[in-house]
Amino acid sequence: RPARTAADAAGPGRTADGHGVALLLNLGGEDPQRAARYDSEGVGLLRTEFLFLDRAAEPTPEEQYAVYTRLFRAFGDRTVTVRTLDVGADKPLAFAPQEGEPNPALGMRGFRTVRARPGLLRRQLAAIARAARDTGAHVRVMAPMVATPQEAADFAELARESGLGEVGAMVEVPAAALLADRVLRCVDFVSVGTNDLAQYTLAADRTRSTLSDLLDPWQPAVLDLVGRVGAAGRSLGRPVGVCGEAAADPLLALVLVGLGATSLSMSASALPAVRRALARHSLRDCRELAALAVEAAGPRQARAAVSDAVGSAA
Ligand code: PEP
Ligand code: MG
Repeated sequence: RPARTAADAAGPGRTADGHGVALLLNLGGEDPQRAARYDSEGVGLLRTEFLFLDRAAEPTPEEQYAVYTRLFRAFGDRTVTVRTLDVGADKPLAFAPQEGEPNPALGMRGFRTVRARPGLLRRQLAAIARAARDTGAHVRVMAPMVATPQEAADFAELARESGLGEVGAMVEVPAAALLADRVLRCVDFVSVGTNDLAQYTLAADRTRSTLSDLLDPWQPAVLDLVGRVGAAGRSLGRPVGVCGEAAADPLLALVLVGLGATSLSMSASALPAVRRALARHSLRDCRELAALAVEAAGPRQARAAVSDAVGSAA
């Protein structure tokens, strides 16, 4: 294992053998100037709900444009990945009331809301595209809660029609993970949302703290699905990010890279420890750790096996 160096603590994410893993930020309504000061390679997940929730009316195109422009300018030439609106009965829009939904997590949410309100997504994409053009920033867009390759294709078409060049889908529904190769053929990249992927894989409500053992992203079934997405990305030569909370756990980050993640997106406070963990392990180490985790009997055993294998290094 190579010795720790000062370079471990700053700069682009890379493994000990120099394999690049972009370290990105998860952002919501934070101040962009402040967020841009963190040592990240850009934004891997901009949750845009903050612009829409608790509002009596849809934010105007001008208002949206102003918010995106400020963010894109703050990040200069770094990539910014904007996730389009992820609302539904669990995160209701005051200006677009929905019928009562007996099973909010399984209902009209995420990309599916386009069925009822296509204009909302079109206007958002148009505002993002205009801000991207006017700032010259490197902007990517991705849709939440994509379940099928057809949905990925539909989103890609809408986004490209709006003038956006780099289009992706979140993989957070098991169906999309199982058909990741077909989803990836429709888009330029995917990003795995481990929070919802765990919820839907284990059929465990993510808001129920009493089910946290099932919702644990170390669940081998969740890791197995991430591995399928990683393998699809590798064989098609397309990027596979992870933007759920799992990416913020330094030990699990190693496993995710071993499973094929090419970027990891997390809150700012998690970046330094993940960067250090990566710098101490080769890609081959990460693949070996991933195999240990996937083969473990359960989440506790997976974490223990990986922790034992790395010793105190991570
Ligand atoms: C996820 O589901 O992992 C994710 C990143 O999206 P959110 O937490 O906003 O649902
Ligand atoms: Mg999600």
